[in-house]
Amino acid sequence: MPKITIKSKLPQLKQTIFTTMTQMANTHQAINLGQGFPDFEMSENLQNLVTLAMKNGLNQYAHTNGFQGLREILCQKIESIYGTPINPEKEITITPGGTYALSNTFTALLREGDEVIVFEPCFDSYCPNIELMGGVPICIPLNFPDYSIPWEKVQAAFTEKTRFILINSPHNPSGSVLGPDDIENLRRLVADSNCLILSDEVYEHMIFDGKEHHSILRYPDLLERSFVAFSLGKVFHCTGWKIGYCVAPEYLMKEFRNHHQFNVFSVHTPAQVGIAQYLENPSVYLDLPEIFQRKRDLLLDLLKDIPLVPISSYGSYFQCFTFDEALAKTDSEMAFRLVKEFGVATIPVSAFYRDGTDHKVLRFCFAKKNETLVLASQRLQKLTA
Ligand code: GLN
Repeated sequence: MPKITIKSKLPQLKQTIFTTMTQMANTHQAINLGQGFPDFEMSENLQNLVTLAMKNGLNQYAHTNGFQGLREILCQKIESIYGTPINPEKEITITPGGTYALSNTFTALLREGDEVIVFEPCFDSYCPNIELMGGVPICIPLNFPDYSIPWEKVQAAFTEKTRFILINSPHNPSGSVLGPDDIENLRRLVADSNCLILSDEVYEHMIFDGKEHHSILRYPDLLERSFVAFSLGKVFHCTGWKIGYCVAPEYLMKEFRNHHQFNVFSVHTPAQVGIAQYLENPSVYLDLPEIFQRKRDLLLDLLKDIPLVPISSYGSYFQCFTFDEALAKTDSEMAFRLVKEFGVATIPVSAFYRDGTDHKVLRFCFAKKNETLVLASQRLQKLTA
C-alpha cells in the first residue's frame, strides 16, 4: 500500500441502507420489499420506442439541457396538469435521475455555512449532498405518527442563514402528502426572505384516495424561488434508466445548467427520444394513481391479521408499519429478523434519521407484482405477537 493520506469529505458516512438491505435480501433469498423499485415489467411499447431511436442512429450526445422534443412535451404535460406554462428553452433540464437533480441544485447554489431545513425521516442522500457543498442541514423531525410538518418548529429554526427549505411530497418513506395548509404555511414562512425551495416530487403520480398532488408547479409565487425535481424512472417503472428532470425559473436554471454541463453534460439520448414519444399518450401517467393504490390496498389487506400496524400512506411506493417491542427492540433488529427468519426484506425507518430516532417503523415497498406481495404476506403470516 502506498503511503498516501487522504481526508474523507464525508467521514461519518456508512453504506446506504438500500444497498445493505438489498444485499441482505440476496444473501437470504428474501423477497425484496426494501429498496424502492418495481419488479414488474415496464412498458414494452416504451422499450420498443427507445430501441427504435437507437436503430435510427440517435446515439450521440443529446443537447446538454435535454432532447428538445422531451423538454417540450414535459412542459405541455406540466401545463395541462398544473396550469403553469414552463419555457422548454429556459426553465427545464433533463437529468440523470431525480437524486441528481437534487444534488446538482445544491452543487450550483449552496455556499459554505448555508443552512438547509430538512424534514426527517428523509431520503438518505439529502444530508450528505448538503454537507459535501459545505452546507449545514437543519434537521426537523416530522410529527409522529402522521409525518406532518411541525410548522411552528420550522418558523423557530428559520434564520437569515436559511438558504433552502427542502420539501418532499408524496413523502419517502412515510407516504404522507402536503395539503393546502402546508402550502399556506410555506408561503408565509418564505415571504420576504432570501430562502429558496427545493421540492422533491419524484412520486408525483403515485397519490391515492382522491388526494391532489400539491406540486410547487401549481403556485407561481413559490415557483419563482424553487427547484422542482422529478423522476421518469419512477413513473415508467424503469428506475435503472436513471432519468429525470428539474424545473426552475430562468435565473435559477441558469446556475443549475452551468454546473450540469460540467457534471454530466447530457443524458442518454435514445431514452429521451423514446420517452418523448411515449408521453404523447397521457394515460401512461394519468392511470398510475389507481394502479398503485390497488397495490397499497392489496398489501394492507394481505397483512391485516399479523401484528404490524399500518401508518396511513397517501402516496409514493411505500407503506409503513409499526410493531410492538415484544417482537424486536429496534426497527433494524426487526428488519434483520424479517429477512433472516421470514425471508422478507424491508427498510428500518430509523435509517432516515441522522440521530437514528426509532419509532419502531418498517417501510414496505408495494411497487411489486401482486404475486410478489402475496408470497411475501404468506411468509409473514407466521409472525405472531
Ligand atoms: N428511492 C428508492 C428508495 O427510497 C431507492 C433509491 C436508491 O436505492 N438509492 O428506496
